[in-house]
Amino acid sequence: METADVVVIGGGIVGTTITYHLAKAGAGKVVLCERKTIGSGTSSMSGAMCGQQAEMTDTIAKLAVRARDIYDNFSDVIGGDCGFFKYGILNLFNAMDLAEQAAARARKNGSAARAITLDEAKDYYPEANLEGAGAALLYGETGNVDAYRTMQSFVAGARSYGAEIREFTPVTHIHAKNGRIERLETPGGSIVPGKVVLACGPWSHKVARSAGLRLPIQPSQVGVSFYRQPPDFYDRPPVFSVELAIIPWHNKHFRVLCDRRDPLVKIEPDPTNAVPPQWMVDWTTEVIERRLPKMKRGRFQGAYQTCYDDTPDLKPLLGYIAGYENLFLDCGWSGRGFKFSVALGEYNAKWIMEGKTELDLAPWLASRFLGA
Ligand SMILES: Cc1cc2nc3c(=O)[nH]c(=O)nc-3n(C[C@H](O)[C@H](O)[C@H](O)COP(=O)(O)OP(=O)(O)OC[C@H]3O[C@@H](n4cnc5c(N)ncnc54)[C@H](O)[C@@H]3O)c2cc1C
Repeated sequence: METADVVVIGGGIVGTTITYHLAKAGAGKVVLCERKTIGSGTSSMSGAMCGQQAEMTDTIAKLAVRARDIYDNFSDVIGGDCGFFKYGILNLFNAMDLAEQAAARARKNGSAARAITLDEAKDYYPEANLEGAGAALLYGETGNVDAYRTMQSFVAGARSYGAEIREFTPVTHIHAKNGRIERLETPGGSIVPGKVVLACGPWSHKVARSAGLRLPIQPSQVGVSFYRQPPDFYDRPPVFSVELAIIPWHNKHFRVLCDRRDPLVKIEPDPTNAVPPQWMVDWTTEVIERRLPKMKRGRFQGAYQTCYDDTPDLKPLLGYIAGYENLFLDCGWSGRGFKFSVALGEYNAKWIMEGKTELDLAPWLASRFLGA
């Protein structure tokens, strides 16, 4: 029977970054099993923004800044191209003191955020309608990446370090016995793993079930609408984070994310109907036309439905858990995992190999639900 030192299940941003760093660190035979193709899950639908949040813990805020630094030096650090649109992120605030407080918290952790007046914001993004706001927060040195290209670059790098990337290879059963994963079934045969990384995003709870493991993950509905900019539109639009995230995209497009969880709409990650409901499209259209009035002359180009892998507290399930000594969880990112996976891949590869991490990731440990 085939053996492998580490089997990574799932070829999204989590699985590809971890596979890259495991292979680079010399973790032995590393096999990534992806049921379809690399990036065929929710990662390629991602806005892939890199906001440098000032919330939660300092460690977590610093990880967002680290992701931005990796994007900025991607060809040197990882190799390949991540398609970084570094046009900034512009957030609106009710009052200047609130924007200044948020900027100070972000700067403390290495971000280049700054509070600006509405006049300055208007200079930065002349097309934006800032009504209702009192000030703005500008993350000038960041933006968003091309999620698909980023994953393909990690995979190319992983292959160059010797990892085996197996597409169209679903793991159909996880056999657990005596407190460890003994065997994985795939259509190509069984694999006896040294360690297993479960990185199946909104499919993770289904894949884990065969090992007798109940993961608290519930996919929630997200709509993504695409709009073409009119010909005379501003050249370098930042991400404009207002009621919704308005994200610049290739070929003079915007994608607008609609991810309201109230009311929470639960969906299957493999929907038969991948179109979002009309109310989501109406809302994205109303917001983009009001906030960027020139977009009244833009073109709606379609929308699709995808999902987040939500946990009860909207924080990920990371690390080793009780009763499964060789199973590492990295899932349940609840809509925020792209940048953090890029930043964490190297740390997590070390954690997988050595059994412990140097980072204080307490709010994110899977053991908070599943025991240590
Ligand atoms: C619309 C949208 C916008 C977002 N915007 C941002 C953002 O701006 N910034 C940010 O940081 N995050 C963002 N996120 C969140 C981020 O994209 C996700 O947290 C992240 O991409 C999840 O990656 P993943 O690898 O866990 O999951 P996925 O990309 O879903 O990968 C899971 C993979 O597992 C595979 N799989 C499933 N079952 C099996 C099996 N049995 N065997 C083998 N393979 C299997 C699937 O085919 C899939 O490829 C957004 C998410 C969405 C949906």
